[in-house]
Amino acid sequence: MKSHTIKIDLHVHSSERSNCAVATAEEQVRAAVAAGLDAIVFTDHHRLVDANQLNDLNARYAPFRIFGGIEITAQGEDFILCGLNDAALENRAWNYADLWQFVQQKNGFLALAHPFRYHQQIAADIARFPPHAIEICSTNTPPRAAPEIQEIAASLKISLLCNSDAHAPERLGSYYNIFDELPPDDASLAAALKAGRFQCGSGFKNIGVKNTA
Ligand SMILES: [Zn+2]
Ligand SMILES: [Zn+2]
Repeated sequence: MKSHTIKIDLHVHSSERSNCAVATAEEQVRAAVAAGLDAIVFTDHHRLVDANQLNDLNARYAPFRIFGGIEITAQGEDFILCGLNDAALENRAWNYADLWQFVQQKNGFLALAHPFRYHQQIAADIARFPPHAIEICSTNTPPRAAPEIQEIAASLKISLLCNSDAHAPERLGSYYNIFDELPPDDASLAAALKAGRFQCGSGFKNIGVKNTA
C-alpha cells in the first residue's frame, strides 16, 4: 500500500500577474520545491496563468506540479478558484452569486480566502451560496478568527483549507494541504478538493485542524 504524502499550496501569487507580489512565478516554484511541497496553484488577482508559462514550468520542474487558478474579489471577499481555465473569469466586476453559479456549471472549485481579513463579518452571502471550502490558515487569515471559521465550515458542511497566500518566496511552506496522491490535472485537483480528500498542514506548527467533511 502506498503512503504518499503530497503537499499542495492552493494560493500562490507571482509578480508577472499580481502587482502586490515580489517574486516571479519561477522564483515561487523554486521556493516551493525547496520547502518540500509537491505542487502549487497560481492564484493571481483576476488573472489566469498564461498556458505557455504553465507548460514550460511544468516541463522544467517535473515531477513538481504547477496548476492554474485565479483569485477573484467579489462583493468585498476574495475567492480562490481552480479547475477552470475560462477567460470569462478575468473580470473585476463579478457578483458573488453569478460567480458561484458559473463555477457550479463548469465543475470548478471555489474557496473563500482569508475570511475576516478585511471585515468583522463575511460580506458575501456564503450561507445561500456556500463555497466548497474556507481558508482557516494563511499568512493573511487572522489567527483569532480560527474558532469562528471552524464553526462556519461545520455549519455549511464545507472543508477547511490551509494555504500560504505567498506574495514572497519565504512564505512558501508555511501552510499547505495534504493529499494521498498528486492529481494528474486541474480537473482532478478540483474533484479531489470538492470531495474533501485532503487535510490541512503547516510548516510552522501542529495547527490541530481536521477536516471531517
Ligand atoms: Zn495580492
Ligand atoms: Zn491571494
